[in-house]
Amino acid sequence: MSTQTIKGALWTARKIDQTYIVSIKNHSGIVEALTDFVNNQSIQAGQITGIGAVNEATLRFFDPSTKQYVDKTFKEQMEVSNISGNISKIDGKPMLHLHITLGRRDYTALAGHLLDATISGAGEFFFYPLDADIIKTRDEEFGLNFYDL
Ligand code: FE
Repeated sequence: MSTQTIKGALWTARKIDQTYIVSIKNHSGIVEALTDFVNNQSIQAGQITGIGAVNEATLRFFDPSTKQYVDKTFKEQMEVSNISGNISKIDGKPMLHLHITLGRRDYTALAGHLLDATISGAGEFFFYPLDADIIKTRDEEFGLNFYDL
């Protein structure tokens, strides 16, 4: 088993064999921190999962009838019950695609495509990189990037 600790400005990671455990610093933006981590480690493809807490999140809902995202920001303390996502290449660049489920104070849930969220407490992630080129290309009919396998 090989193990290595790596530090970025917004995160600390431990690589165990091919798997990373990533802790995002309190008050950091999740998307900014994870994008920096992916670029730092030159991760081209793979899967992400995470939990934690945030005090602000902007979610997106894609409306197929208009082919537009509708964004909404929530400013309150929330549990991140799950972040689930993947990394693939769009136009030759690694892109994160993240969805989030948030738990509110009254135990109801919010969910959507994650545009941005700010950690307020812990941000605990597992990354499973794949040494492969997974490509997404634009589907003009739907207006989104789909897997081109
Ligand atoms: Fe999405």
